[in-house]
Amino acid sequence: MERLSYLLITTTCHETSPVLPLLSMHPSSSSESLLDQDPINPALLDPKLSAHDQTIQHQPVLCPLPPTPPSSCPSEPALSTTAEPMAQPADHSAAAEPPQAGAAYTVREQPLGSARHIRIVGVGAGASGLNLIRTLRLNLSDYEVTIYEKNADVGGTWLENRYPGCRCDVPSHSYQFSWRQKKDWANFFAGAEEIGDYLCRVCDEEGMRDSIKTLHQVTSAQWNEKDGQWELAIKNLETGEQFSDYATFLVDGTGILK
Ligand SMILES: Cc1cc2nc3c(=O)[nH]c(=O)nc-3n(C[C@H](O)[C@H](O)[C@H](O)COP(=O)(O)OP(=O)(O)OC[C@H]3O[C@@H](n4cnc5c(N)ncnc54)[C@H](O)[C@@H]3O)c2cc1C
Repeated sequence: MERLSYLLITTTCHETSPVLPLLSMHPSSSSESLLDQDPINPALLDPKLSAHDQTIQHQPVLCPLPPTPPSSCPSEPALSTTAEPMAQPADHSAAAEPPQAGAAYTVREQPLGSARHIRIVGVGAGASGLNLIRTLRLNLSDYEVTIYEKNADVGGTWLENRYPGCRCDVPSHSYQFSWRQKKDWANFFAGAEEIGDYLCRVCDEEGMRDSIKTLHQVTSAQWNEKDGQWELAIKNLETGEQFSDYATFLVDGTGILK
């Protein structure tokens, strides 16, 4: 017998809040590289969790639960061949009805977890943006990704800050991607230029440039609840052209120092 439960999801949203912040700055006791934290939390990769409309939303999601086990467990083999045949999944196709006007939600006639093509937009091509590209490559298949970067090159913080003595404040052997280690840092605390060069080289050697549009600034991002996607406004800083884009998932890699 199938039981259904309702999972109440509550999201609090802000007009300009980050969506999926990528890089925690000071993860302290972790032995992993500071630049190598996995930015993709599957629980966050639900566009409904990223809604941006200043309201508190309560969205019921139908979650089929597994059959309830018997309250007492007799000592019989787990895979008994004499067990009753398993109940067949209910055929919902006949029950599919057009959405009713004013209904709070509709139930899609597709299995939970069905794959679909998604478009991911990242904002910022610093260390977080690069790590995003790699993480997506490792974990997703049917997707497209574009990273918009307002600067002329990748590197983020380490491109922008080049004042004398500018350097990282944790040892460089920790402040690097664990998946792309550099062993000949010139200094225990490498300078901004060397870190910037490292990030550019990783980007080139990993073939990431095709996914990155430099000199493009994301000027607005609005969640469209009806279509279930982000509506973005982009400005080409080279030509001044403004255009729109969309994303199933929007990933904030804009850093926290601004
Ligand atoms: C001097 C200095 C020393 C530091 N030392 C350490 C350290 O030792 N350890 C540590 O953990 N952290 C350190 N940090 C923090 C550092 O910022 C982070 O470690 C990390 O580099 C942040 O990377 P990021 O990709 O998240 O953000 P950033 O490097 O800040 O990159 C964000 C990018 O987003 C782009 N962007 C922003 N808004 C938009 C927009 N609207 N549209 C398009 N693009 C946009 C920016 O142009 C930028 O390229 C240091 C920072 C500084 C400045």
